[in-house]
Amino acid sequence: MGKEMYQVKIGEETRLYEAGTTYREIVKEYQKDYEDDIVLVFVNGKLQELFKKLKSDCVLEFETTAGEIGHRAYQRSISLMMVKAVYDVAGHDAIEKVRIHFSVSKGYYCTVKGDISVDQAFLSRVEARMREMVEMDMPINKRSVRTDDAIALFGRHGMHDKERLFRYRRVSKVNIYSMNEFEDYHYGYMVPSAGYLKYFKLYLYDEGFVVQMPVKSAPKVVPAFEPQNKLFHVLKESVHWGDIQGIETVGALNDRITRDGVHDVVLVQEALQEKKIAITFDDGPHPVYTEKLLDGLKDRDIKATFFVLGEKAKEHPEIIERMQEEGHIIGNHTYTHIQLRSTNREKFRDELIRTNQVISGITEQEVQYVRPPYGTWDKKLEEELNMFPVLWNVDPNDWCTGNTNRVTKSIVDKAKENSIILLHDCYQSSVDAALSSIDILEERGFRFVTVEEILFE
Ligand SMILES: [Zn+2]
Repeated sequence: MGKEMYQVKIGEETRLYEAGTTYREIVKEYQKDYEDDIVLVFVNGKLQELFKKLKSDCVLEFETTAGEIGHRAYQRSISLMMVKAVYDVAGHDAIEKVRIHFSVSKGYYCTVKGDISVDQAFLSRVEARMREMVEMDMPINKRSVRTDDAIALFGRHGMHDKERLFRYRRVSKVNIYSMNEFEDYHYGYMVPSAGYLKYFKLYLYDEGFVVQMPVKSAPKVVPAFEPQNKLFHVLKESVHWGDIQGIETVGALNDRITRDGVHDVVLVQEALQEKKIAITFDDGPHPVYTEKLLDGLKDRDIKATFFVLGEKAKEHPEIIERMQEEGHIIGNHTYTHIQLRSTNREKFRDELIRTNQVISGITEQEVQYVRPPYGTWDKKLEEELNMFPVLWNVDPNDWCTGNTNRVTKSIVDKAKENSIILLHDCYQSSVDAALSSIDILEERGFRFVTVEEILFE
């Protein structure tokens, strides 16, 4: 009997592929229609790496190096290859640490600590080694390991900064990428092999070097090396890279950058900070989509915040119960979704009270948070009702588009440390976008928390 076949919809076209076909094989057939390299795929709206295998019928969309997500995957993969090349050229024992600090010119400023001197001869050998890996199209492999095992692994490899980093991470599993025998840890997805990494150049600079890479708008061109020396020194002096307790140093650096009017700086070692973010859902509960969302959140062990409508909560008390059981915060979004106006303050207030009664009737807990529909609020209500309003700062407008990818992209592009993301759990596309955004942002080092933790900790 033949293997099972799956329908894969790409654009307007549907083709059949055998179960177990990698996305990379599928992408090969379509690459000729794209100017830039396809480095990742969206499978039913969820970002996946190309080495993954087809498991079901799906809608497939391509992410190239000209997209934000694809571009970052390129930069990340170049970084991995560069670090490996340094180790290969110098010999593992000679290297104490390779560090990627911050962006300079269009590249990353890197230093090497260890028993070698970074001069032009050394750098040329590193670059030659990188070209060699590109030439042989060395695979980039990935495996997922338990956090404890990762700590032990990097301890053995003498990569003590990474060992320490994981002690601050609260996820149970981390991804380890490897090229040949060389293993490293990175947040975020990679290209599948070194053959994709043709465009880069190394320049000796200050105490180290810069790995220069294309910008997103021209993914096949390595731009001229034009370091801004003044900016470089501001950055260098601002950061005590010897100190791994990232939050203070990164915060201090951001202050300094803002004060000096220097923008558009990428801190490469973002991994040093633990970035919190909250995801919130309004207008539910919905009997189908909220349940699906709760399943997805449970799989990922993510706690969210729900602002529910009183009339819907009354209809689906079992969903409210489930939210509470699974550790989510339940807030008030009025009874019928009314907007506060000068003419309806009493009705608005009554709706809040009525909704609190419905929720508390189910959870046996006081409702502390309110999200006023359309964001209109009267501060006096805070004391009158002993409730705290929670607004948002990332709004992907999910309710007006059914396009999962567009919503995902919007969230991922706008999300920053301490963002509060606004979504609605009454659409399939919003649920899909929420879950794929969570996956992407977690890969980038964000940690999802409830609004309470953002607002009060
Ligand atoms: Zn609403």
